[in-house]
Amino acid sequence: MFLTITTTGTPEHPATELGFLLHKHPEKAQAFSTSYGTAHVLYPEADDRRCTAALLLEVDAVALVRRGKGKGRGGAPDAALASYVNDRPYAASSLLAVALSGVFSSAMKGVCNARPELPAVPRPLRIEVPALPARGGPALVRRLFEPLGWTVTAEPVPLDTAFPQWGDSRYVRLELESADRTLAEALRHLYVLLPVLDDAKHYWVASDEVDKLLRAGEGWLPGHPEQKLITSRYLSRRWSLTRQATERLELVRLAEADDSEVEEIDNAVEAETETEERPTPLAVQRREAITAALKSSGAARVLDLGCGQGQLVQALLKDPAFTEIVGLDVSMRALTIASRRLKLDRMGERQAARVKLLQGSLAYTDNRLKGYDAAVLSEVIEHLDLPRLPALEYAVFGAARPRTVLVTTPNVEYNVRWESLPAGHVRHGDHRFEWTRAEFRAWAQAVAERHGYGAEFVPVGPDDPEVGPPTQMAVFTLTTPKEAKAA
Ligand code: SAH
Repeated sequence: MFLTITTTGTPEHPATELGFLLHKHPEKAQAFSTSYGTAHVLYPEADDRRCTAALLLEVDAVALVRRGKGKGRGGAPDAALASYVNDRPYAASSLLAVALSGVFSSAMKGVCNARPELPAVPRPLRIEVPALPARGGPALVRRLFEPLGWTVTAEPVPLDTAFPQWGDSRYVRLELESADRTLAEALRHLYVLLPVLDDAKHYWVASDEVDKLLRAGEGWLPGHPEQKLITSRYLSRRWSLTRQATERLELVRLAEADDSEVEEIDNAVEAETETEERPTPLAVQRREAITAALKSSGAARVLDLGCGQGQLVQALLKDPAFTEIVGLDVSMRALTIASRRLKLDRMGERQAARVKLLQGSLAYTDNRLKGYDAAVLSEVIEHLDLPRLPALEYAVFGAARPRTVLVTTPNVEYNVRWESLPAGHVRHGDHRFEWTRAEFRAWAQAVAERHGYGAEFVPVGPDDPEVGPPTQMAVFTLTTPKEAKAA
C-alpha cells in the first residue's frame, strides 16, 4: 500500500523543501513502527526541480487481527479466517490515513519549526495512490476531490489484466494535481477522504473521531457539496455522531460568514489578482471578445460555465444589459474565491439579485441550467479528458440549450510564438489537450450539426498570418427550435 507526493520547484522555492515540510530528510530512507505495521518514508527523486516523497505502509495482518481491530465479525469459523486473509495489508486506505497522520503529523498541522514560513507556501503538488479501494468508483472520487480544486484522474483498476472480461476491481488508480496547494491542506484532504472512499474503517469509531474530522476538515468540509456523505461514511454511519458533527459543521459555517475574516481574504485575493493579470493581457482580451459577442447576440441572462474565480462574472456585472449572470464551477475552492472577489455578501439587494454562483459538474445534465439566453465556456473544454467531452456536449447543447453558446480554447498552433513555452508543451499543466484551428473547427461543426446550431469562428488576440490567434472562439447560434428538435 503506498502513496507518493511530488512537487516541482521554483527559483524561490526549490522542490527539496518538501523534506523540511515533512520533517523527513530526503537523503535517508526511514522506518517508523505504527500499531498496524511499519511505515517507510523514502524519496525516489529529490533535487531542486522535482522531489517525490513516498509513504509505504507494510501492514502486519496478524497483528491487526490480534489487536482485535480486524474486520472479522466473530462467529462462523470462516469469518475468523477471513480476518487473516483479506485485502487490508495491500490496500486499506484507512490505515494509510492513520499512518499519514502519525508520520506526517506536523506537516498536517502546518507546523515547521526549522522553517516556519514554509507551510503557508502554496506549491504545485501531485499525489498518486496506485490502488485505492473506492466504493462508489471513479465518479465518487471526482465528486469528493474536484470541489476542492484538484484535477482528478481516477481510473478503475481491472481485476486481472490478463482477463479483461472479468471487469474492474473495486480499486482505482488515483492521481490528484494542483498548481497551488499547501501541503497541509492536501494531507488533510487525504486523511479524511481516503477512509471515506474505503468505507470500511478498521477500528471502532469513538466520539473523539468527531473532533478529528472537524479538525482535519477545517476550511474545506463545511459547505462541501458531499459534506453529508463524507461525515456519515467517516463516522462509519453512527447516526448520533453524524448528527453531532453536522450540527457543529453548521456552526462553523455560520462563524465563517463573519465579516472580520473576509477582509483579510479580500486583501489576499486582491494581491493574487494583480500578479495573475499582469503577464496575461490575453485573459482581458478574451473577456472583451466574449462580452462583445454576448452583446451582439442580445443575451440578457447568461451562464458562465466553468467560471473559475469569477473574473468574467465580475466584468459582466458592470454592464446593465446583463440582467442575470450565473457562474458555475466544479471547484468549490474557485467559487469561494469568486464569491469573495465579487463581495457577494456585501452587495446591495438589486445587484445581488443579478448574480448567482453554483457548484456543479458539466459532465452531468443539470436542470438549473435550462432557460438561459447564452452560455460561455471560456477556457474550459481543454480541462476535460477527451472521452468526457461528449457528456459536456450533451449537458450544454442537448439539455440546457441556450440560444447562444460561446466556446474559447487555446490554439495549439500559436504555441510556437510563446517564448517561454518549450516546444511541444501545452500552456497549462491541467490542459488535457490543445487543438489546432482545424481540430477545433471539426469538433465545433460536428457539435453544431448534431444539436441544431450554426457555428462561426472568431480569432481572439493577434491573428498571426501563419499560425493564427492565441485563442480561438466558436460562436454557436441555435437554428433548430427545441420543438422541431424533439419531434
Ligand atoms: N472560465 C474561466 C476559468 C477557466 S479554468 C476563465 O476563462 O478564466 C477551467 C475551469 O473549469 C476551472 O475553474 C475548473 O474548475 C472548471 N472545470 C473543469 N472541469 C469542470 C467540470 N466538469 N464542470 C464544471 N467546471 C469544470
